[in-house]
Amino acid sequence: MFGHDSLPSCIYSYGAKAPTINAELVNAQMSAAHKYGNKLVEIELQRREATNALVRRLSPDLEAAEQAVADLDQRIKAVQAAIRLTNQSARKKGKGTPEQRAEIKELRTKRKEAAGRRKEAKALAYESLEAKAELGTINQATGQTMRDARAESEIYWGTYLQVEQAAGKNRSGPPPRFRRWTGDGKLAVQIQGGMTAEDAFAGKDKRFILEGDSKYAQAWIRIGSEGRQPVWAVVPVLMHRPIPDDCLIKWVYLIRRRVEAHHKWQLCLVLSRAGGWQKPDLARSGNVGIDFGWRLLDHGLRVAYWAGDDGQSGELVLPIRDVGRWQKADDLQSIRDERFNLALTSFREWLRAHELPDWLAERTKSVGQWRAQARLAALVIHWRGERFAGDEEIFAQIEAWRKKDKHLWTWEVNQRRKAVAWRVDLYRNFAATLSRQYRVAHIENTKWSDMAKRPTAETEDDGNKASRRYRQIAAPGRLGKLIRERFAEVVKEEAAYTTQRCHACGELAQFDAATHLWTKCRHCGAEWDQDYNAAMNLLASGPVAQKTP
Ligand SMILES: [Zn+2]
Repeated sequence: MFGHDSLPSCIYSYGAKAPTINAELVNAQMSAAHKYGNKLVEIELQRREATNALVRRLSPDLEAAEQAVADLDQRIKAVQAAIRLTNQSARKKGKGTPEQRAEIKELRTKRKEAAGRRKEAKALAYESLEAKAELGTINQATGQTMRDARAESEIYWGTYLQVEQAAGKNRSGPPPRFRRWTGDGKLAVQIQGGMTAEDAFAGKDKRFILEGDSKYAQAWIRIGSEGRQPVWAVVPVLMHRPIPDDCLIKWVYLIRRRVEAHHKWQLCLVLSRAGGWQKPDLARSGNVGIDFGWRLLDHGLRVAYWAGDDGQSGELVLPIRDVGRWQKADDLQSIRDERFNLALTSFREWLRAHELPDWLAERTKSVGQWRAQARLAALVIHWRGERFAGDEEIFAQIEAWRKKDKHLWTWEVNQRRKAVAWRVDLYRNFAATLSRQYRVAHIENTKWSDMAKRPTAETEDDGNKASRRYRQIAAPGRLGKLIRERFAEVVKEEAAYTTQRCHACGELAQFDAATHLWTKCRHCGAEWDQDYNAAMNLLASGPVAQKTP
């Protein structure tokens, strides 16, 4: 993954501050790297276009086959939409009427045939001698354009290697997309041959130097050359954990991310170690089922329940105090929204009733659609330098709104940041504790990120809305990520009936998962907490892992 070295790698990340030397140059390089990445996307799109044009020209049947596939896709979609409509009116889930199912089946068969024809037509075109010659030309031209783009980009070589590595996956799969510039950036230095922490602190290297003690250091990162001399960027770094002596630093990354209104800096070191990275305190045997969810109880928000094959079990609860932090942040947000609407309403009235200077008329053209506080705040900041007669009252009013909004916003952001920090801490501890007790975690194979992004119906009632908010607070995806990172092994279980099957007798039953925490199985009479039941099912559904030697 990192270079050609096959030694196991690990990334150590350290919090950093903005560069104290050559900050401008760092910014320029990050922006250039971003542009270079987009340039490579553009080149790849051109290559695909040229290849497609060539293949079309050489294979007269291809276009018809492609059209047939597209038409069939459309028709399949139409039937699927009809099925959804039927289900909605019948208030059930399922696969539609028998006729609809037959139709879908037939269309899919036809699509398969059409796709086969398309593949054949393409293969035929690629096989021709003419194609081989021309594809060679296209690839050569693409290579040359890429080399030109690299030369033009003026970014230092470690960074362009990174950009090119990331662009490597452009070559296959769906067409790559251009990326918007958000201010995020990454500079990279490859340390060929690797260096130890001692080498870095010795201060003699021409690529990367650490200066200071093992806790507070200045990182010198090479970002260019002047003649043969290195050009350095220097960033203060908090070395919260030492670089192990038996490691080699292979890559150095300086990373900048935009968080709220400022930048967060990070220094990341890719380390390799001949002996590998197995965490010494991980359990060597044992299985645990962990069920994620979000359920508000009296003492907090339950976000997980676990059950181990040693008979122990327990819950992970985000304490009510921490849930309150999220609610406080939400409250602040709605106060801000209310104040914004009031300010905007009176501003719009004022605009309508007054003769405006050109700049203000121009900037408030779309004021009817403004949804973000930042628009109004930016306007009033600009306004300071463009004061005009008769604006005293409204300017003072909006400026007062802005000051207060900034205060509330800072407060809101801090609440949220603290809330996230507490949650990460809790989850990390949870994962660490269980990973010392059990070697394998069995979790549900669910894409939480998809669920979170799924658009919700507008008719959604308050109950759903609250549930969605609790899911965001619980962030099961984050918990899953920490567990995957921490455990020696994680098995994802297909969890179709995790909550519907009784772990004691194996029978299926309809439980109302949302309302009743404790349930009695109508088959065997066992009584259990639903989340415990789910954890037990996850534990049982996985193959029991072997002990590692
Ligand atoms: Zn049962």
